[in-house]
Formats: sequence, structure tokens, C-alpha cells
Amino acid sequence: MTRPGRLGVFALAGCLGCGLTGCGGDQAGAADDGRVDVVVSSYPLEYVAAEVGGDRVDVTNLVPAGGDSHGLEPTPRDVMTLTEADVVVHLSGALQPAIDDVLAQQEPEHVVDATALADHGEDPHFWLDPVRLAPLGTQVADELAVVDPDHADRYAERAERLAASLQEMDEEYATALAPCRGATLLASHEAFGYLTERYGLRQVGVAGLDPHVEVSPTRLRRVVDDVRDTGARTIFFEAAAGLGVAETLADELGLATDVLHPIERVADEESYPGLMTANLAALRRGLVCTG
Ligand SMILES: [Zn+2]
Repeated sequence: MTRPGRLGVFALAGCLGCGLTGCGGDQAGAADDGRVDVVVSSYPLEYVAAEVGGDRVDVTNLVPAGGDSHGLEPTPRDVMTLTEADVVVHLSGALQPAIDDVLAQQEPEHVVDATALADHGEDPHFWLDPVRLAPLGTQVADELAVVDPDHADRYAERAERLAASLQEMDEEYATALAPCRGATLLASHEAFGYLTERYGLRQVGVAGLDPHVEVSPTRLRRVVDDVRDTGARTIFFEAAAGLGVAETLADELGLATDVLHPIERVADEESYPGLMTANLAALRRGLVCTG
């Protein structure tokens, strides 16, 4: 499928936006069915928006089911969806620069940006640390309260409940991974930097932060040396991306393989808490721990 370049998207969006809805019109807004239209740009943000908003909100994720959030290129329809949203929840920075551009251009009134929670330079994957994800619930609740003040208390309450469940998740992780302190987490996609920092592990990524960038031979050699030095015994890969280079490495180094989910592409029956729990079980199986 060919997608129009960025400038093309803006030009098209301008035409469609004004032609179909009338500029400044808010057809999908809170005024229609009383529900708040929240548009998000990745699954973890969808999870938080839905948990905090409950049945007061309709959440639309710009990433289609099974699609990849890295480098998402918005279609003209996506641009319209963003423009018409009551609230946009986005992570600006390295993950989706093309969405950053649309938001800068269209300037929707109510944008929640999670970027302060992802302060590791180019690494967007802050949601894999439940402690970092919790404050986003409060940010979303505060913005929903501006758009829909009648239900401000309900949003605040739901954000608190989400924070409590994330705290519980953190405690489970901390307890289960305490005997694994210092262990090497070898991952095909370098998505676990926030997680390894929180729980005292050490990440070695085969592919970099962006899984689309091809692995260089130099990097691969470094990974091989590192595995030999640290005695890691499992290479974790993302089920959706397939084994790829991880399989070659596993063969060469005699490593087991196991799935560790970056919680970016999520199937219908999957959810953040379920995948976090499955990830913890995989880490306990695959890391070298002392107890
Ligand atoms: Zn990723």
C-alpha cells in the first residue's frame, strides 16, 4: 500500500476536514451522545484511557489491530480523527514523529502527552514499567475533567484505582525478580530498558529501540561476545515480529527462546495486565536467577 507523504497528508486533511465537517465543527464531540471521544496513538495509551474513562468515553486507537505503533504514518482519515477528537492521548518523541507533526499543525485543544514519563532519550517503551505508567492515569483524568467536568470525580477515582492495580503489579515484579538482580535480559527488540532499570536487570538488545532498523554485523558480534561473557541462556523475542535474527543467534549460542511482549501490538483477547503477568512468568523461566 502506498501512503501519501507527510505534506500530502496535510494537504488532503485540510480539504477533507473543511469539506466534510465544516472547519471547527465538532460532529463527533461530547455534545452528541454525551460520551467523550478519546483518540490514542498506541495500545498502552488506549489501555489507560479506557481504564480511566470507563463507559463515559469512546476510545479510538490510530494503530489498527495487529499494526505496528513504531513510525505510524497517519492516513488522511487519521488526521481527521485527531482533529475531531475531544481528547488526544499521545506519546511525542521517538515513537511516532509523523503524529507529532500532525498535532503541531492541527493543534487540537485537549492533548495529553506522556512524553515526560519516557525520559530515556530515544526509548519510548515506558509502559513496560508499571510505576511509570501510573501517573498517565492522573494526567488523563485531569484532561477528561476539563472536557466533562460533571464526571471529574469519577475520572479521578478510576485513575486512583488504576494506580493501585499498577502498584500491585510493581510489587509482584519486584518480589519475583529480586533473586534475578543483575541478570542479563537478552531481547530481540530493545524495548525493556525501563523495565530492566526498575527491577535491577541488564538489557542487551539485538535489534535497537526501533525494530525496523536492520541489525548490523558489528552489533551482532557485540551481542555474541556479551552473551558468552554473561552466561545468558534465553533470548526473548516478540511473537508478532517472528524469530528472525533471534533464531540464528539462539542456534549459534545454544540459547533457549521465549516470548517477551513489548505490549505494542495486542490481539483482541489480550490486555495490559494479562501480558505483563505473562512477561513476568517468561522472565522467571528465562533469566538466570538465584532463587
Ligand atoms: Zn517498540
